[in-house]
Amino acid sequence: MGKALIIGCGGVAGVTARKCCQNSDVFSEILIASRTLEKCDALCASLSGDQTKVRAARVDADNLHEIVSLIDRFRPEVVIHLALPYQDLTIMEACLKTKTNYIDTANYEPPDNAKFEYKWQWAYRDRFEKAGITAVLGCGFDPGVTGVFAAWALKHHFDEIHYMDILDANAGDHGYPFATNFNPEINIREVTAPGAYWENGAWVHTKPMEIKRVYDFPQIGPMDMYLLHHEELESLAVNLKGIRRIRFFMTFSQNYLTHLKCLENVGMTSIDPIDYNGARIVPLQFLKALLPDPATLGPRTVGKTNIGCIFRGTKDGQEKTYYLYNVCDHQACFREVGSQAISYTTGVPAMIGAMLIMKGIWRRPGVFNVEEFDPDPFMVALNKWGLPWAEDFNPALIDDA
Ligand code: NDP
Repeated sequence: MGKALIIGCGGVAGVTARKCCQNSDVFSEILIASRTLEKCDALCASLSGDQTKVRAARVDADNLHEIVSLIDRFRPEVVIHLALPYQDLTIMEACLKTKTNYIDTANYEPPDNAKFEYKWQWAYRDRFEKAGITAVLGCGFDPGVTGVFAAWALKHHFDEIHYMDILDANAGDHGYPFATNFNPEINIREVTAPGAYWENGAWVHTKPMEIKRVYDFPQIGPMDMYLLHHEELESLAVNLKGIRRIRFFMTFSQNYLTHLKCLENVGMTSIDPIDYNGARIVPLQFLKALLPDPATLGPRTVGKTNIGCIFRGTKDGQEKTYYLYNVCDHQACFREVGSQAISYTTGVPAMIGAMLIMKGIWRRPGVFNVEEFDPDPFMVALNKWGLPWAEDFNPALIDDA
C-alpha cells in the first residue's frame, strides 16, 4: 500500500521494522536509515524473505540536508523517527520541506540540557497544518499507549477523569549487575532528573526518587515504584479536560538504584564535558559505551512487564475507578522478533501509529499527541499486533490516591 522511512536502527527500530514486515498489506516497502550503515544492512538481511521490500541507507539525522535528500529519493508516506530525541526537530524540519508525515516516540531534548518538553515540537503546529501534513508525537508505550488508554477511558468509561496514575513495571531480569532497557544515555538522563507531577493546574516538583510506593501488579506481584517526571504528563495535563492530578511511577530494583547512586556520586552520569588526556568527553556518553547495548538484552531477559493506567472520575454522576494495562513477556517477545519487551512495547505502537497515518485514519494536518486522535482503531490494533490489553473495574489504588 505504501512506503515508510524508518530513521534509527537500535532496539526499538528493529521491532518496528519486523512489525512493518508482518503487515505487508500496509507497508509495501521500508527504508531503514541510520548513522551506522552496517547495522541497517544486518537488519535488512535478517528481514529478507518477507513480503515487504526492505532497503538500507546511511543518514546523519542531525544533518537536515541529508534527511531531505534521502526523503526526496525514497518518497515515503511517513517518516518513523526511532533515532534519539536530539534529532526530533531536524527530522520534523525535513518532513516540512518535503511535505511528509512524521511520527516519533520521544519528545525533543536539547543535547546539552537534560530537559524534555513538548514546546519545541508544538511550535511546529501551524507550519504542519499549512503544509497539510500530520505529525504524531510520542507514539511508543509511555508516552504513546498511555495516551491512547486515556482517550479510550474518557470515550467509553467516564464523563470526567479526575485522577490518572501511570504505572510502568518491569520485572525482567537480564542477569547483568547493571544495564538499561533502552538507550542508556536517554534512560539515565530521565531517571536521575528531579521528579514532578501535575496537580490542580500546576507542577509539583520532587527530588529524584523522593516518592516511593509499593504496588501489587497483575501477573508480576508487588514491586517498589518511584515517582518520575515523564513526558506524557505534559500533554495529558492539557488534553484531558477536568484532570486534577496525573502522576507517573516506574519500578526500579534496589540493585539498580544502588548502582545508579554510586555512578552518580562519582560523576559518571553527568552530561557536562570534561577534559581527559587532551580529549573532551561527556561522562554519561562514556558510561553508555561501557554498558550493554539494550538491543543485545533480548536472549537473556526473562520475566514480564506490566504498563498501564489507573483512572478515577465520574460516570453518570457516580464515582468510578478503571485500570487498563498490558502485560508483556520478555521471552515471548524475543521468540517473535528477537528483542526484549521494552523495545517491543515501544516498537509495536510506533508501527500501529504509522499504519493509521498510512491508512488515512489518523491523518489530520498539524502536530498532535496520540490522545487527540480516536483511540478505537489503535486499541483494536494493539490486540491484533501483540500488545493485548486487560481491564479491571475494581483495582487496588496507590495507598494515598
Ligand atoms: P538505541 O540507542 O538502541 O537506538 C538509537 C538508534 O539511533 C541507533 O541506531 C543510533 O545509531 C541511531 N542514531 C543516533 N543518532 C543518530 C543520528 N544523528 N543519525 C542517525 N541515526 C542516529 O535506542 P532505542 O532503540 O532503545 O530507543 C529509540 C528511541 O525510542 C529513543 O528516542 C528512546 O527515547 C525512545 N523510547 C521511547 C519509549 C516509549 O515508550 N515512548 C520507550 C523506550 C524508548 P548508532 O547505532 O550508530 O548508534
